[in-house]
Amino acid sequence: MTAQDMLKLKKSLGTIKPLFTFQQCKKCKSTVKIAGHHVTYIPEKVEPLCSKCHAKITALNTAAAIVTGINKDNDLEKCNVIRRKVWRWFLRKKKFITLTDIALFLGIDYEFTDDQISYIVCAGERCL
Ligand SMILES: [Zn+2]
Repeated sequence: MTAQDMLKLKKSLGTIKPLFTFQQCKKCKSTVKIAGHHVTYIPEKVEPLCSKCHAKITALNTAAAIVTGINKDNDLEKCNVIRRKVWRWFLRKKKFITLTDIALFLGIDYEFTDDQISYIVCAGERCL
């Protein structure tokens, strides 16, 4: 490899940012099975979460989408607002999260149907 090749390689590596500066779950601080969670898709905001916490936030986002009827395909702007709110709330919340907690957090009086609960629980793997 020539010096010029080395310089090219160094330049190209310099433009590659690691996805996360260190692999630690933003919620529980675990370092096991860390993956990127899309807080929002467009613009893209990705945060590191362990698989357990990722399942929980996925369930919360699923519940929020069911309750509000808003998703990234039908209203991107409102979807981003909701997903950011859910994300901040998720990071703050310390205790077990129930469906009532989600409805209260979203500021609505809402009764989930059995089908919706099943769907949310499947998405969240018993986190609700
Ligand atoms: Zn975690």
